Amino acid sequence: MAGIIAIVGRPNVGKSTLFNRLTGRREAIVDNTPGVTRDRIYAAAEWLDKSFTVVDTGGYTEGSSDDFESEIRKQARYAIDEAHVIILVVDGREGLSPLDEEVADQIRKSGKPHVLAVNKIDSPADDYVIADFLKLGFNDVFPISAVNGHGTGDLLDKVVGHLPCEADKSLDFTEDLPKICVVGRPNVGKSSFLNALTGRDQHIVSDVAGTTRDAVHTRYNMFGFDFYLVDTAGLRKKGKVSEDLEFYSVMRAIKSIENSDVCILMIDATRGIEAQDLNIFHLIEKNKKGVVIAVNKWDLTDKTQTTASEFRKAILERIKPFTDVPILFTSSIEKTRLLKTLQEALEVYKRRKVRIPTSQLNETLLPIFENTPPPVYKGKTVSIKYITQLPTPRPQFAFFCNLPQYIKEPYKRFIENQLRSMYDFTGVPLDIYFRKK
Ligand code: GDP
Ligand code: GDP
Repeated sequence: MAGIIAIVGRPNVGKSTLFNRLTGRREAIVDNTPGVTRDRIYAAAEWLDKSFTVVDTGGYTEGSSDDFESEIRKQARYAIDEAHVIILVVDGREGLSPLDEEVADQIRKSGKPHVLAVNKIDSPADDYVIADFLKLGFNDVFPISAVNGHGTGDLLDKVVGHLPCEADKSLDFTEDLPKICVVGRPNVGKSSFLNALTGRDQHIVSDVAGTTRDAVHTRYNMFGFDFYLVDTAGLRKKGKVSEDLEFYSVMRAIKSIENSDVCILMIDATRGIEAQDLNIFHLIEKNKKGVVIAVNKWDLTDKTQTTASEFRKAILERIKPFTDVPILFTSSIEKTRLLKTLQEALEVYKRRKVRIPTSQLNETLLPIFENTPPPVYKGKTVSIKYITQLPTPRPQFAFFCNLPQYIKEPYKRFIENQLRSMYDFTGVPLDIYFRKK
């Protein structure tokens, strides 16, 4: 995943609608009431051969409507700071407003790549409307309809052209060490966990080992492990106050995930696994990063009411179908299982690097597929002939077969389950491809 695209603009111009279109959710979940908390503000998306994260702004606001405009300004500023490309959305039907000009100004000053989307132009015949918005001074102006898709392809072509390539993002670290992050909602105990684990920083090898545009990598050497903890750059200096808003913590999570190999997803035992936790989980999975779930504040749970195994079951139920994930029960305050959690993350890192020799893969798996072949499809027998793991940094497998297009999701799951039962890929998302042989 490379890069973050932020959608900014004043309320009701169609940001959510555009977000849903770009991220492939067609049924719009829009609500015109200011202050309504949207159910998602970010999602993975793809266009051409690029994948990226789209972030919607303005959805998470708390407090009175007086705070509302200032909160929108804050989120816009923040998104502009943190994104790689910015889409400013304006309302083509209502014309220019002072808030549009203000945000446009901020964007131009940021020096970041930016485009203007003049929305609600539902018919190409009305494209001329963009003339009213040229005085915002943007070079790239697109008439679009977030509702019916008019112009959004051209918009995306331009936008993805501005995304950084993978190579720009990864630091040239001299050692190839595990990069681990701790992500989760505000107040689950991430900072307490890291402080308890890393103590008075006596394990730090070098303070700031490397800083990408997006993240700080601090190298640690402790308990015989050598690794980087990834923290999100721009966010550190801004302090903790603003991070308490879900919006900021989510932006932070996205960046940490993108910059890590393995993510420790921390959830609060007293609250159970909630929608926001699941969103972060799916972001980790979509990014194909390793994952460990830490159920923190375990000390606060009433053990006569909840047992670890029940809790584990409830989590597994929610994270289906990717359930081959380590789950640990921690307390940052009582310092229980913190080291174990770190160890597990490092184990996931190792599993994510495992290479299985082709001969071994074929010997162990082909007989299974012969015994339980893919279902006959349209009267055709589908057979898998040959399996190989691709020479990529994380586990990706190619299955060569006569009719790859006829292998459907249930069988693909079956294959994944076989792979997972033969080899230990706990905490590691796998990619399975079918190719014609
Ligand atoms: P946001 O507050 O900027 O996220 O705006 P929303 O996405 O919630 O949209 C506000 C209103 O504008 C909703 O009623 C949408 O249905 C409507 N809307 C959004 N995009 C378009 C569009 O392209 N054409 C038309 N006609 N209406 C739109
Ligand atoms: P963050 O926002 O995720 O970094 O959370 P913090 O580390 O700042 O913790 C939020 C609050 O929860 C603080 O008051 C911590 O003292 C408390 N806390 C964190 N971890 C635990 C834990 O394992 N048990 C208990 N009882 N409290 C915790």
